[in-house]
Amino acid sequence: MSSKIACPHCGQDWLAAHRIKSTGEMFHTCPECESLWLAQQDLRQETENYLSEFLESTGITWGDTEKLAT
Ligand SMILES: [Zn+2]
Repeated sequence: MSSKIACPHCGQDWLAAHRIKSTGEMFHTCPECESLWLAQQDLRQETENYLSEFLESTGITWGDTEKLAT
């Protein structure tokens, strides 16, 4: 059984779960197009968020996050 969800935006990769180390906040990103889904968003719906904008708006870097096992 797999819980993998193909990216609704580009369809080129699986969404990957990540967590912000300092806050424990979870989010999902697509490694291919860098679309981003926050914890409360439906992963099967298109998103308007992008990883780079999210990191900038929250003041963290990619190194402040960790990949979660899926
Ligand atoms: Zn994508």
